[in-house]
Amino acid sequence: MESRKNGFTLIELLVVVAIIAVLVSILLPALSRARESARQIVCAAHERQLLSGILYYAQENGDKIAHYALPQEWPVHAGTNYNHWNKYILPYINETEQQYLDGQGGLLKGCPSDNKYGWNGWVQHFDVSYSYSNAFRKPYINSFSDLFVPIAMIADPTKTPIFCDGKFSPVYTHMPGITRFDFRHNGGANVSFADGHVNYLIANKILDLPWNTFADISE
Ligand SMILES: [Zn+2]
Repeated sequence: MESRKNGFTLIELLVVVAIIAVLVSILLPALSRARESARQIVCAAHERQLLSGILYYAQENGDKIAHYALPQEWPVHAGTNYNHWNKYILPYINETEQQYLDGQGGLLKGCPSDNKYGWNGWVQHFDVSYSYSNAFRKPYINSFSDLFVPIAMIADPTKTPIFCDGKFSPVYTHMPGITRFDFRHNGGANVSFADGHVNYLIANKILDLPWNTFADISE
């Protein structure tokens, strides 16, 4: 039999191509998970800065976190223009109102895995990349000015979330229901807690947190 000195047969070449294809198909999901983990870390850093802004705001406002949204015309409860929580904390995250309106701010862009990241349209409305808790509100809303309870009255700030990765909902609501969470970081999300820490949690753990439990306080 004549021996070959150089080159591959077509079969050998096809086998090599097939092996490479299998390797790529194994490696690509791992690479995509790694890329997502990197984005999750950037997101957590953004959340830490937003969270410290929220807590600084509370320090200067009777220990109460910023409202989710209030009519700009408040106390006249009319009109369709609302200020959202992200606007109240601008001075505490060193961001100007013009940056906020232009969508130029670094922090208010939020989560790098959010589809709307960097799209100016969402920056000044609703809650950036994040869903905001309802747990700091009183059960009965008699007046907006008296809507939120002090953080000190929350039973366990280490387990009480303020916000986490979320997404825009076409249904206007204060309630960050399940449809407003977004488990875009490998099946989980970054959660910011009332004691000032940020933690990555998987979906089931996040759903167990007291998001919509109205603050249980005796008046
Ligand atoms: Zn995120």
